[in-house]
Amino acid sequence: MSSKKKIDAVVVGAGFGGMIMLHLLSQRGLQVQGFERGSDVGGTWYWNRYPGCRCDVESMEYSYQFSKDLQQQWDWSERYSPQPEILAYAGHVADRFKLRALIEFDQSVSSAHYNDNTQTWLVETASGKSVECRYLIMATGCLSAANTPAFPGLETFAGEQIHTGAWPQAGVDFSGKTVGIIGTGSSAIQSIPLIAEQAASLTVFQRTPNYSVPAQNAPLDPAFAANIKANYADLNARNREQPAAFGANFPRHFDSILAASPAEQQARLEEYWQHGGFMFLAAFGDLGQNLEANAIAAEFVRNKIRQIVDDPDTAELLCPQTVLGCKRLCADTGYYATYNRDNVSLVDVANEPIQAITPQGVQVGKQVYAVDTLVFATGFDAMTGSLLGCDIGGRHGLTLQEKWAAGPRTYLGLMSAGFPNFFMMTGPGSPSVLANMITGVEHHAQYIAQLIDWVGAAGYQAVEASQTAEDAWVERVNMRADATLYPKCNSWYLGANVPGKPRVFMPYVGFPDYVEQLEGIAERNYEGFAVS
Ligand code: NAP
Repeated sequence: MSSKKKIDAVVVGAGFGGMIMLHLLSQRGLQVQGFERGSDVGGTWYWNRYPGCRCDVESMEYSYQFSKDLQQQWDWSERYSPQPEILAYAGHVADRFKLRALIEFDQSVSSAHYNDNTQTWLVETASGKSVECRYLIMATGCLSAANTPAFPGLETFAGEQIHTGAWPQAGVDFSGKTVGIIGTGSSAIQSIPLIAEQAASLTVFQRTPNYSVPAQNAPLDPAFAANIKANYADLNARNREQPAAFGANFPRHFDSILAASPAEQQARLEEYWQHGGFMFLAAFGDLGQNLEANAIAAEFVRNKIRQIVDDPDTAELLCPQTVLGCKRLCADTGYYATYNRDNVSLVDVANEPIQAITPQGVQVGKQVYAVDTLVFATGFDAMTGSLLGCDIGGRHGLTLQEKWAAGPRTYLGLMSAGFPNFFMMTGPGSPSVLANMITGVEHHAQYIAQLIDWVGAAGYQAVEASQTAEDAWVERVNMRADATLYPKCNSWYLGANVPGKPRVFMPYVGFPDYVEQLEGIAERNYEGFAVS
């Protein structure tokens, strides 16, 4: 494909978002081309191969809903699916719906520019391929631009350095190795227990402790799975009414923890701790809204840490003092107990930050911690990183980088004014990372496909967000976030983890409300979208 061809649509990314988008557009008879920087499908599950990587949404709730046969015929083996199984599922979907033929792998899209005259996009890859298309859909993921802090001396390190979000395909053998890991977010919390089992020693460099509840992962009970399969549509419908589009199988309470007696508080929190996972935050109705309510549940978790971790100083260092659930809650298997191992040590880099990476290892103050292998579990330039990493130019040459200099601005998290026929899947301003991602991408793919149908049926060439509608939507996203405790900490939801990134709360709070808004907009003839 060295000569430029002209097609209906380009989809960038072949994770779960890109795959469903390609499927829906090709089903409609559109000529569509997918580009994927990896060598296969799977997106986040292709790149994140670190030990212990698994989904924190339960398996029976983390799959596509568009094909009943697919849902019935695929079997999950554990309550929370491990990465290899989810990657195998992605591969199965690609084969089953013949998607691989639509995708060029090992192709990183480097630029996309809109031509006002032809009303088409010119999309170019880093290796020099180019294609002209009417619609451009970025399915590039919310957590796909790995973030490695610019530590001085990084390039001088003599050992092996690995980012959890770009794990070597061949795997990593930690046997007999002295290992360091920087970060204590979800990726670290999942991988630390397994790395510790293999390595000679593991040193964890922690800046901010995170709250983690036990996942209580286990083999999936076949009777439980069969029961869900018999009523899948019902579970899916009930999940769509949940704030994060999952969890309908376990009760969500709406009463205030402040109205409960101390004994009732502890009993309910214990029940939810034993159940495991994210639903811990649904034990009472006000944990995400009220600081006093939140503090009670936070202290419950801290007391659990103090019970699990033998050394009181280490336990205290692991106790978060931030708002519970403000940063994304982690779900673990044996994380805190790992600190009871003789070969694991915790280094606080909050007060005395990492100064440099030396050829030997990690320098904190005057001390150098020598390591053979250094794991960066330092997260992602979330939500905007993969979009702004590509040179995107809209109408009159306006670039997305220029337009979003003070933070992302979108209408519905789907489009941005000035960028006709340019769609983002789970973009900033949509529930995205605050909801079940697979439900979110499927919803977006269907909405985008229907909008493209509508544009075509009406004989228009281009559609874009109106500036007024976008401004009102940005207000709405902020208003909904401000009604919660989310803005009260330095999370990646706010861009606070990347130095210099504008502090803007990016995801939309509340999946059901979001779906209702989008349905209303479609019924009102796609209100807020301008066509030409
Ligand atoms: P993360 O939550 O952003 O954690 C990054 C860690 O690196 C934090 O502990 C951070 O400390 C630390 N860090 C960053 N820069 C540092 C520096 N200069 N010095 C010292 N420490 C530094 O990243 P993540 O763990 O990869 O998780 C990101 C998201 O991916 C999760 O929140 C979740 O949404 C998703 N994820 C999901 C799963 C799952 O489904 N189970 C698993 C993994 C990831 P600070 O907190 O002080 O910034």
